[in-house]
Amino acid sequence: MNLQHKVGFGYDVHKFADNRKLILGGVEIPHTKGLLGHSDADVLLHAICDAILGALALGDIGIHFPNTDSKYKNADSKELLNHVYYLMKDFHYEIGNVDSTILLEKPKLAPFIPEMRKVIANILNITIDQISVKATTTEGLGFVGHEEGCAAQAVVLLNKQDK
Ligand SMILES: [Zn+2]
Repeated sequence: MNLQHKVGFGYDVHKFADNRKLILGGVEIPHTKGLLGHSDADVLLHAICDAILGALALGDIGIHFPNTDSKYKNADSKELLNHVYYLMKDFHYEIGNVDSTILLEKPKLAPFIPEMRKVIANILNITIDQISVKATTTEGLGFVGHEEGCAAQAVVLLNKQDK
């Protein structure tokens, strides 16, 4: 449907592993362990990809970038988001705004959030005030609280481009 506005939601989880870099929102965060995945396991960028794909009803990131495809082994998730951005452009939509939350017990992410927003805004061709990144712990509860993994959620509003 050729709607003027479309909303999308994305959710992703990766587990922690030794000898991996922790990359969130395209930014490398100093930590004792990182997230495991076929790609660089950037859980925030994956959630944003899924939110955009969801708004367009184009399935999910697993369909577009199968983890059985060696092309995406250790893939830079910034490139995956870039691909999704151009897909969105093909459908003549642009980003209204993105809101997101990273669920992580440690480390504290506040110092890195401005850089994440800058990286994401650059890829999506939007301004910093169109991309919100928040972070929360889960008060020691569940897989996030036990530092077994990290989750991210994102919602996006897409607007139909003017002719
Ligand atoms: Zn993922």
